[in-house]
Amino acid sequence: MDDGTMRMFKGYRIQHNNLLGPYKGGLRFHESVSLDDLKALSAMMTWKCALMNIPFGGGKGGVKFDPRKCSQPEIMRITRRFTHALGNNIGPNYDIPAPDVGTNAQIMVWLMDTYMNQVDHSQKNAQRAVVTGKTVTCGGSLGRNKATSQGVIHCLTEWAKDNRFDLEGKTAIIQGYGNVGSHAALLLSKLGVSTIATGDHTGYLRNSEGFNAHKLSEHCRKNGSIAGYGGEQITREEFFATKADIFIPAALENQIGADEANALDVKVVLEGANGPCHPTGERILEQRNIPIIPDILANSGGVTVSYYEWVQNLNSQTWELEKVDGLLEKAMKKAYQRVSFYSKEKGISLRVAAYAVALENIKQAYEERGIFP
Ligand code: NAD
Repeated sequence: MDDGTMRMFKGYRIQHNNLLGPYKGGLRFHESVSLDDLKALSAMMTWKCALMNIPFGGGKGGVKFDPRKCSQPEIMRITRRFTHALGNNIGPNYDIPAPDVGTNAQIMVWLMDTYMNQVDHSQKNAQRAVVTGKTVTCGGSLGRNKATSQGVIHCLTEWAKDNRFDLEGKTAIIQGYGNVGSHAALLLSKLGVSTIATGDHTGYLRNSEGFNAHKLSEHCRKNGSIAGYGGEQITREEFFATKADIFIPAALENQIGADEANALDVKVVLEGANGPCHPTGERILEQRNIPIIPDILANSGGVTVSYYEWVQNLNSQTWELEKVDGLLEKAMKKAYQRVSFYSKEKGISLRVAAYAVALENIKQAYEERGIFP
């Protein structure tokens, strides 16, 4: 640590399935990181990649600590030490991490640099694709930063089209104002949807006029949270009870239990976060006829553009933003329509439909490959 003391940190990497391609999934730095959570999150990555027809499997990892309590040099040393400890358990054709809660493009670059320096000099540059979500200068893709939220917004516009719901002038509430939450607010504002309440690990704020998404993002970038930004301070309970059209959970899992599901006064929930609905909360939302666009569909824009980044790295290419955005839009709309069609055809929820589409894809691949030898 900066003060010269030594600390031990617990780190994990879970590899759930690599039938369709290398393990793929985020790397989380958070004090609540646990083996069971990461196992569940890595399985979700398998279904997500299968649903999106991306040639990746599912993985997830994390280090259990609070990065807000560490300096940048300390976070760098934790990242490098963890990457070194992972050794060849990760690799451009084997297991490819990406940003998640508490990690960002800079951390992905430290990971890449550490991994590159562990191989023969002549092989260094071929290792760039070991991680996605890097800075653009170091091999990241244009459009990756906002990709997850962009995917959420494509699902929202498809849902709105299907339900003849005019988005202009509508309102949203967003839990979590990090990578996914803040970009979602920015993209919503472009559609004429105002974010009237938001919250993070420091508390919740409401502004019935709608927040200026740019200014709030800038505030978070400088201060690390929404704390101290203008608006009415509200409790978590008041946040969930705020009447709005759209709710985007973009923080952690299991945030919507029975109380939250009963309190929510919205027309649609788009899961920016992974696993934000507790099963009890989900059943209540279903009974209340509030549709949920499930995580493996709604937030799959992130891994989709991660795939584009990986392809660019392997081919030494740099794609224009228009190309990335265009491919993402096509992929998201296609996946949404496929899930929506399946859900209507079978009379099942969008989540069950998304799982079914993903599992059918995996089932078919297993059947075609058969059992070795
Ligand atoms: P982030 O670290 O950038 O932001 C997380 C946000 O959640 C922060 O605003 C934080 O303050 C808030 N938060 C943390 N604990 C909270 C609590 N107890 N109550 C309320 N808010 C809390 O992380 P992110 O990358 O934006 O990820 C958010 C979610 O989206 C996660 O579930 C992640 O797995 C999922 N996701 C992220 C990506 C991606 O590309 N980053 C892709 C797919 C899914």
